[in-house]
Amino acid sequence: MEIEYRPYQARSMVNRLKHVDDWFWVSYTLNPYRGCAHLCVYCDARDNQYGLSATFEQVVYYKENAVEVLERQLPRLKRGIVGTGGVCDAYQPIEVERRITRRILEMLAQHRFPVEVLTKSDLVLRDLDVLQEINNVAWAGVLFTITTFDPVVTRRFEPYAPSPEQRLAALERVAEAGLTTGVMLCPYLPGISDDEAHLEEVVRRAKGAGAQFVLHGGLTLKKGPQKTRFLEALERYYPHLLPRYEQLYSTGFSPQGEYSCRVGQLVREVCRRHGMPDRMSRPILPGEEFVINKRIAEKLFLRAYEMGLEEGTGYRIWAYRKAAWTVDEWPESIAKLYADRGEAGLRELPGIGRSLAREITGWLKESAVEVLGANHG
Ligand code: SF4
Repeated sequence: MEIEYRPYQARSMVNRLKHVDDWFWVSYTLNPYRGCAHLCVYCDARDNQYGLSATFEQVVYYKENAVEVLERQLPRLKRGIVGTGGVCDAYQPIEVERRITRRILEMLAQHRFPVEVLTKSDLVLRDLDVLQEINNVAWAGVLFTITTFDPVVTRRFEPYAPSPEQRLAALERVAEAGLTTGVMLCPYLPGISDDEAHLEEVVRRAKGAGAQFVLHGGLTLKKGPQKTRFLEALERYYPHLLPRYEQLYSTGFSPQGEYSCRVGQLVREVCRRHGMPDRMSRPILPGEEFVINKRIAEKLFLRAYEMGLEEGTGYRIWAYRKAAWTVDEWPESIAKLYADRGEAGLRELPGIGRSLAREITGWLKESAVEVLGANHG
């Protein structure tokens, strides 16, 4: 596949999220490139919302002025984890020559900004030195997407990305270097790589290589170029599955609730069997204020996640998520609030009613020694 590379002048390099992301714990996202030469068949960067759909298969734009723009932006930002790889891989082949990601990491190190890389490439090992430097002053984590080790499936759906074996070997090196590392088992493909044997192989080998967690998720198919491209491949390689996909995606871009709950619970069970968390525990950054708020928010997010696996969607899940955002962003320690005013104080927080206040009280009491100590976390 011949890809054309074109320079691009970025107006902004860092996008601030409205709320912290409760899977990756990033507060900002950053993409050195627009487009991705790995061209995974299921990639949702083809979706119209990213403005790349017209050129996705042909062009990758590199942000020539990335470092200059970032240098202007960073001093104005509150410290939080900068995530890269959410839309386009920061370690796609052009990075060997352009070194934009590396220069971005150096800039983040200079400003003591924590970073999280999500990639399918072992090229990230080139920058292990800078990542360690960042980890020493802030925090750094590297996550590898591994959807399956099945060579037939990867050849068909991830034809231009480094092999899962290369990614796993890279993960092992990152783990040895002492950085946080884990696997993103996403997307598993209905009827292709979502059975227990495929899923278990990823979890077992991730564990063996030193991954600290395996996050997992299903395939989304957004109407337009992403869905069209995926269905073309399905028709070519697995035509018998077309009716099943039609039914699974008949109500939206995510598979129907029952499927997602069933496979999500299966991966969770496989993880449990291997002693592997299926959530990433929240990094606490040096000098972080109100640590107890962060920890309680994490528990609320976890409850929402677990309910999602059991129920799919629903009002209760949103109630927990909203409560988590409130606690996470509250400008004073909720432990102090509780110590001063008891459960009634917690109930005055937006979105926190009687039962959530009681649950939070339980968690606060569990961590009472640390919480009600001198500095009120
Ligand atoms: S590596 Fe990630 S960003 Fe690149 S094509 Fe594959 S799924 Fe898309």
